Order: sequence, then C-alpha cells, then structure tokens
Amino acid sequence: MYASVQLLNGFQRSLWYTIPPHLVNTIGVGSVVLVPLQRRKETALVSQIAPALPETVSFKIKDICGLEPFPPDALYHQFVCQVAQFHFVRPMHFYQRIRHFLEEYDSEEVHTAVTSTCADSVVLTQEQQAVVDYVQPVIGSPAYVSTLIHGVTGSGKTEVYKRLIQTAIEQNKTVMLLLPEVTLALQFEHLLRKQLSGVTVVGFHSATKPSDKKALWDQLVQRKPVLIIGVHLPIMLPCANLGLIIVDEEHEQGFQEKKHPKMNSKELALWRASYYKIPIVLGSATPSLNSLYNVQHRGWKLFEITKRFAGKFPAITKVVLTQEGRRRKSFWVSRELEDGIKECLANKKQAIIFLNRRGYSFFVQCKTCGFIFQCAQCSVSLTLHRTVKDGQVQGVLRCHYCDHAIQLPTSCPSCKAPEKELLKKGIGTQQVVQIFKDLFPRARIERADLDTTKKQREWQTTVERFYHGDIDMLIGTQTITKGYHFPNVTLVGILWADLNLHFPLYNASETTLQQLIQVAGRAGRQCAEGKVIVQTMHDHPIFKYVNEIQYRDFFADELEARRETGYPPFARLASIEVRHTDATCADADAATLADRLREINQAEGLNVSILGPAFPLVYRIQRWEVRHIVLKAPSFKALHFLLSSAEQCLLNSGIFVTMSQ
Ligand code: ADP
Ligand code: ZN
Repeated sequence: MYASVQLLNGFQRSLWYTIPPHLVNTIGVGSVVLVPLQRRKETALVSQIAPALPETVSFKIKDICGLEPFPPDALYHQFVCQVAQFHFVRPMHFYQRIRHFLEEYDSEEVHTAVTSTCADSVVLTQEQQAVVDYVQPVIGSPAYVSTLIHGVTGSGKTEVYKRLIQTAIEQNKTVMLLLPEVTLALQFEHLLRKQLSGVTVVGFHSATKPSDKKALWDQLVQRKPVLIIGVHLPIMLPCANLGLIIVDEEHEQGFQEKKHPKMNSKELALWRASYYKIPIVLGSATPSLNSLYNVQHRGWKLFEITKRFAGKFPAITKVVLTQEGRRRKSFWVSRELEDGIKECLANKKQAIIFLNRRGYSFFVQCKTCGFIFQCAQCSVSLTLHRTVKDGQVQGVLRCHYCDHAIQLPTSCPSCKAPEKELLKKGIGTQQVVQIFKDLFPRARIERADLDTTKKQREWQTTVERFYHGDIDMLIGTQTITKGYHFPNVTLVGILWADLNLHFPLYNASETTLQQLIQVAGRAGRQCAEGKVIVQTMHDHPIFKYVNEIQYRDFFADELEARRETGYPPFARLASIEVRHTDATCADADAATLADRLREINQAEGLNVSILGPAFPLVYRIQRWEVRHIVLKAPSFKALHFLLSSAEQCLLNSGIFVTMSQ
C-alpha cells in the first residue's frame, strides 16, 4: 500500500511513501505520520491511500517511519474537511495551525496538567437546577442537543456550568468551555481550578504557556478527560472523547476571528456538537437575536434564570447630554453622574466608567441637536473620510455599504449650527481619565482597556487591585463589561451610550444594547443600592431596555425590524474582501468578481443581493487596497451555492471570503 502525504512544514507538493506492513491497518486518510526526507524526518498528513502508484517512478519509494502521537479522533478528519471547504481553505491549514502551537514548546520545560481540588457545597436554585436536570442526562448519550441559558447578570450561570462539567468529567468525557476573550478565559481557569474537584483544567489560548499546551496535547493523546478553556483554539483540536461544549457570553462578537480565514468559533462549536452528536450549552444575559430565533424555529431549548443570586437590579437613569441645560464642569460628565460618583466615593464603594471607543471619530454628529449624517439608501451612518483635493484637505461622508458619498457640509443640515458644532472626534479613555482626575482629585482612578494582548498581564493586575479595593474608579472600554464580578461596585456610568448605535452595521442596536446591559450588570451584584447612569447624545428607543428584565421585548421589536429589512436571521450574509497593492487593480478585480457573482445569481435564480463593491471602513491597510462585496442571501443554501459556483474566482490570491452569522 502507498500513501500520498503533504508535509506540515508548508511544502506544497504531495509526496508518495510506502506504508510498511505493520502499519497498513492503522494508517488512513487524515493520519499524521513521520516520513523520511533527505536526512531528516518530517511530519506529514496522509491525504490519499492507493494500492499502486499512479505513475512509474525511477527512484525508490521510501517507507513511512511511523505515526506521530495524535489524539485518536475518528470523526476529526471529516470534520476538518467540511470546515475547510466552508472557509475556502485546505484541510491542511488546520493541521498546520495545531502544529504551530505545539512547536513553540521547548522540550526542557516540565509539563504537568493541574488537577483541581475542593469541597464544593453550593446548593443550586430551582432555576439553575432545571437546566442541570435537562442537560445532565444527555451527557454521554450520542445526541446533539442545544440549550440556551438566558440568565440575567449575576444569576449564577457559572454554577450551572460547573455542575455539567463535573458530570461530563466523571463519565470520562472532555469538555470545551469557550469564552469570547483571553482575559475571561484566564479568569475562568483561575476560578475553576479552585472550585471544581478532581477536574484537570487546561487553558488553550494565546496566553497559555507552551508547556501547558504540550501537557494538554499529551492528555488528549492518552484520551484523558479534561476541561479545555479557550477562545478560538480548542474547537479545532482533535479529541476522541469530547462530551460537552459550553459557550459562555454567547452573544459576543469575540468568537469571530479577525484574521483570515475568519472563522467563528461559536458557529464551529455548533457544527462540531451536531457532527459529534454531543450536547452544547450556550449562555448569556443578553442572548443573540440569532440564538433566540433558533429557540423559536430550530428546536433549541431555552432556560431562563430571572433572579440575581445576591443583590438587586440597579436603578437606571438616562441623561441626554445635548438636552442637559444645567451648567456642568465637563461636557462628558452630567450632574447626575457627578453626584452619583460623589455619593459612591463617600460610601467607600466603587464605580466603573464605561466608554466604548470603537466608533472613535467614525461618524459625525451635531453637538447642538444630535443630528447624525446617514445614508439615504442604507440606513447606516456615514463615515468621515479625509481626502486631499487640489492640495486642500476635505471631509467626505461616505456610506460603507453602497459607497454613496457627500461633502462634509459647513453647518448642521438639521439645526444649521456652524461646523464647529459638528463633533468629528470621539473622546478616548485617556482623556476621560484626565477629566475625572480633575473632578475628583482624591479618588484613586485607573484606566483599563485592552488594546493588545501584550497588555494582558497588566490588565490582570488592574482587575485584581480593583477587586481588592485598591482602586476607587475604573475607566475602560468593552473589556470591563465582560463577566466580572466586583461585589463592591455600586455605580456604573456609561459616558456615551449611543456611540456605537450609529456604527455602520445592521446589528448595531443589538450589539449596543447587549453591551449596555452587560456593563450595567456590573452594578449592585452583591447589594441593593446599585445605580447606572446612561449618558447619551441622542435619545433612542433601545434605552428603555437597558433594564435587562425587558430584554425579550427588545428581541421581539428588533426581530420585526430585521424581517422588514431582510437582515439575519431572515437572511445569511457573507462578505468578500478583495485586496490588491494597486487601487485601480483592486477596483477592477472587485468589479469583475461582483459581475461574475451577479451573472451566476441571475442564471441560477438564487435571489442573492450583491452589494458593492464598496470601500470598507479601512480601505487601505498598509500597502493593500481593500474593497468589499457583501452578499445577502435568502438562505445558507443559496449563499453557499453561489460561492461554490464562483469558487475558481474566490481561490485567487487576494480574495478572502467571510461567512457571517
Ligand atoms: P453570572 O455569570 O450569571 O453573571 P455568576 O456565576 O458570576 O453570575 O454568579 C454570581 C455570584 O453568585 C457568584 O459569586 C456565585 O458564586 C454566586 N452564586 C450563584 N449561584 C449560587 C448558588 N446556587 N449558591 C451559592 N452561590 C451562588
Ligand atoms: Zn448607502
């Protein structure tokens, strides 16, 4: 027997080897083997097996040396092939990725997986117990069951996860726990190592030490049951005895990878659970519209945990900054917020000030009346670009969906306020820290925003100091909204709540509201006097839902809006990125591709809307010109059919496809 292999070192050509008789029954397509190459041994993936060589060769075909230790997972290769096909990459990509993570390992390092110990005496509430009673019996039986937990902030979803993890591990099953951010993954590792008993807890993410990754690999090769905690990496690991997947904060965008191929680990988790016939549990205080829709239409089971375990829901006050007549020291700090902080500091409690910087200077809003420039056709806000024309810098407002553009006017079209009233620059957290330090010189104020993974340790230290009461006021971006439990926080101030509402994305309301509820949910987790002050430039209907009890009403309203505009879950979206070093070529390539897609769409009657080519938010990345084409399809089937029919064009270098949820 012969095997055609591909080297994991990236060498493009396939090579033939003989399978020695003692390995004939163990080597198959998808096996990872060691092969001799010149004087070295290389790791390779078997991609084909044949009884005879397809052509005669003049040299001697060498023997495969042996199998690389690889976790025995019978479904893995098929799963990888499907995921690869879906993302227009080769299956090899995934094997190389795993190898890359294991390669950093230095064999001198000692590695041992840590097993947790504790005596746990938590008694679950009725609402918590109901989830456990439903999922527990399915663990270990081959069945794909998806369960969504809508549990308000502070309701104790983690206690439910712990029970389920324990059950799975006792049945020798491995569990994957996915979180949308590395900082959260680290936090859970730390917590669960302390709180679970007899469970081997291992992290597998960018902040995991190479020796720990190797330790995990050894556990997987030996089929030992482990709890794997991570963001993106765990879901593509081979694992023979996978028994349960948990996706916490399931509404988060963090599961979407930012590099090509842009995979979404939550989507992959759902695929994997259904392919491996295992239960999957998704949890959030603000479930995604898609997941709630799946409860209604795709047989997902929904559980609600409606009460906070300790503490009460905070009182919410909305302040419209543009309508606030009273004099105040800083435009960004309303009297309500100032008074709230004073009271909080006087009572020796802590405050969180939240600013989401993501929309930084992306759109233009009138400071006098709150007017926002919007695209007439696309119902998204226009984005400010600077262009140079005849040696003069000019502002241009452009739609990122249809590319419609207008000159930035010299006054507000709505209230005629002069140009200086048009707010083009947001404020950053650094500036906010200064404002608050000036207002409260004696308070211990710190900034916590996580721009780069390099700052992770710093972030961890700040979180710990805040937790221990060494900081009075924490100012930060979305990272501080996620999952943290700070018992002494009584006040949350949201500086600019409508900032991201006008971000040019169809789901801007959904993501904004989720974020506001999450950050508001940090107040009053262990006491009765929680307070949230929501400052906004412009009033908007979603603010009435910040009180999280009404979240499901938002779902109903927003679903209707999506139905009318034909956006997900009533459509499937994909975006195609076309890159070229030359602007004219990028335009031409994108136009050719869009034409080809329109041709197929027409000929096959697929009914897919093909939007663009248009300029993305950032249309030049270093020396690459980038153009976008957005596909809006009535079904996943139509979308995939269209993309597969155009596959030859899509496999060109410089073209990247992202399927969105
Ligand atoms: P969530 O993740 O849903 O926002 P957490 O899991 O952080 O909430 O729970 C909030 C707090 O309540 C934690 O300190 C947790 O230990 C505690 N808690 C939740 N349920 C129970 C329970 N049944 N018994 C004891 N403590 C609980
Ligand atoms: Zn438009």
